[in-house]
Amino acid sequence: AKLRGERRISFFDSEIQAQVVQHVLLEEELRNALAENQLVLYYQPQIRKPNQLLGYEVLLRWRHPERGIVSPAVFIPIAEQSRLILPIGRWVIEQACEKLAAWQSEPTTSELSLAVNVSIIQFQSNSFVEQVGQILEKTGAPPRLLKLEVTESLLMNDPERITEMMNRLRSMGVRFSLDDFGTGYSSMSYLNQLPLDQIKIDQSFINEVTSNLANSAIVESIIGLAKGLNLEVIAEGVETEEQRDWLANHGCQNFQGYLFGRPEEI
Ligand code: C2E
Ligand code: CA
Ligand code: CA
Ligand code: CA
Repeated sequence: AKLRGERRISFFDSEIQAQVVQHVLLEEELRNALAENQLVLYYQPQIRKPNQLLGYEVLLRWRHPERGIVSPAVFIPIAEQSRLILPIGRWVIEQACEKLAAWQSEPTTSELSLAVNVSIIQFQSNSFVEQVGQILEKTGAPPRLLKLEVTESLLMNDPERITEMMNRLRSMGVRFSLDDFGTGYSSMSYLNQLPLDQIKIDQSFINEVTSNLANSAIVESIIGLAKGLNLEVIAEGVETEEQRDWLANHGCQNFQGYLFGRPEEI
């Protein structure tokens, strides 16, 4: 039994070691990714019932020369730990604002919005609010068409400071969506203090919303909560017509998911 135990431990050791090596390698490669033009933005449509294009969520991809497309689920945590998310996140906002500005000259695109994911690390930087203000000014993007997606984890430390930063951004006209709602810390008490415009129902609840009683109860209560707080609500991860119809029948008119379009370059 002892031998088996030792073998188990060394097996896990080498596995962890391999992960650490992988992490260090990726971090080093990520350092050059921006300068080497390996980061690309994909855009996934957001739709209002019945078929109106509202805009897109901006989703990062890393086009690695040897590894192919690396998922943000893999490299965002590395970017956050190494603080590389600061220059990367800034670049994403710049790209989004340049797109919004370019869309202004066409009536078919001038009202489309872009939703950009923002990491807590970006909010920890004192200059974040000024940075966004400068980018808006430099590009000429209409601030109301820029939507920042934040998660509940933002509230883990110093919610007062975060709220103040969000208020300053909101007074510029920038909008906020609370992403992955329902999966994080239960911060219901902060919900009405936060300057939010939208709640995004996490895809894990949408997944079985038509067949799983618990999920349908959760989604119904999130929709009710959004209504009560006078917030817009959008469902992500909508893959089937059944899910879309269930949501529409329960008061959620805004959708994002493979049913309407995958993230892609535009
Ligand atoms: P997220 O913000 O929750 O984004 C939604 C994820 O769901 C995306 O994964 C999207 O491709 C995927 N998705 C969309 N529709 C469907 C669907 O119908 N079914 C299923 N199964 N999945 C769907 P993606 O693009 O791999 O991004 C993963 C996460 O990486 C994002 O989750 C977000 O947290 C993070 N991320 C992506 N881009 C950025 C960025 O620019 N900055 C930061 N800080 N994080 C980012
Ligand atoms: Ca998001
Ligand atoms: Ca999400
Ligand atoms: Ca998510």
